Amino acid sequence: MKISHLKIKFLKALEGEYPPEEAGSFFNLLAEAYLKKTRLEIALEPNAPVNDKKLSLFDAAVERLMNHEPIQYIIGETEFFGLKFRVNENVLIPRPETEELVQWILEDVRRNDASAKLKILDIGTGSGCIAVSLAKLLPQATVSAMDISAKALEVAKENATLNAAEVNFIEADILQQEKLEEKYDIIVSNPPYVREIEKKEMQRNVLEHEPATALYVKDLDPLIFYNKITKLATGTLNPGGCLYFEINQYLAEDTRELVEGFGFTTTLKKDIFGNHRMLKGIWK
Ligand code: GLN
Repeated sequence: MKISHLKIKFLKALEGEYPPEEAGSFFNLLAEAYLKKTRLEIALEPNAPVNDKKLSLFDAAVERLMNHEPIQYIIGETEFFGLKFRVNENVLIPRPETEELVQWILEDVRRNDASAKLKILDIGTGSGCIAVSLAKLLPQATVSAMDISAKALEVAKENATLNAAEVNFIEADILQQEKLEEKYDIIVSNPPYVREIEKKEMQRNVLEHEPATALYVKDLDPLIFYNKITKLATGTLNPGGCLYFEINQYLAEDTRELVEGFGFTTTLKKDIFGNHRMLKGIWK
């Protein structure tokens, strides 16, 4: 089949299920992954043949898309901070907001002393996107990353290897920790923070396919992770050390109060969408 025909067939199959622009961008991503062709190449070579093996890959992708599986899981890969990350249903797909959190840390570190031998801990690392990009971009730092899920850690380890980044991985449930074993200069976390009542705002691809343990908290105790992590941080951060959180936009003030209550000096930061999405706490 010609590539131009494949594209028409693909878009037709997803009609009604996705807006045409979104279906078009899925096609481009899949063509890049399966055929190693860019959008431009497809436009310039509409008659290029696609063999049966490749066609069946597109058929399988259509089936998964009809089931609203995220395109990143179908391709098995995504980009975060300009780096490639493997992803599957055991890890949350890295979000652009989280890139902003990494950017904030990098700016602070570079402004202070880029050559400092910092010790960094990422709690709830998932795909490893925060830990791996920090380890890659701050080669003088020692980065550790914790997660409750052994399956997520498998993906995170693969991502560290893929990006030639050195990260020390720890399998543990943060809520069960009495204290942290080591001292750190930076603790960063993008913990679960979506309340059950917020599920109605969410899309099927997230609700039905991304790991619930990475996303949701109880309506009555939505800051459970922030409380636990901040408490542990008080006993383990070096003086002047920092806590960086991705936060629930609707709970920004509550989260700030909680962190201040432990004795941190805090700053809130908005994401590209204008929502309060990040919080920094400086330890005295
Ligand atoms: N920002 C993510 C979402 O909207 C949630 C991430 C998290 O719970 N830590 O799906």
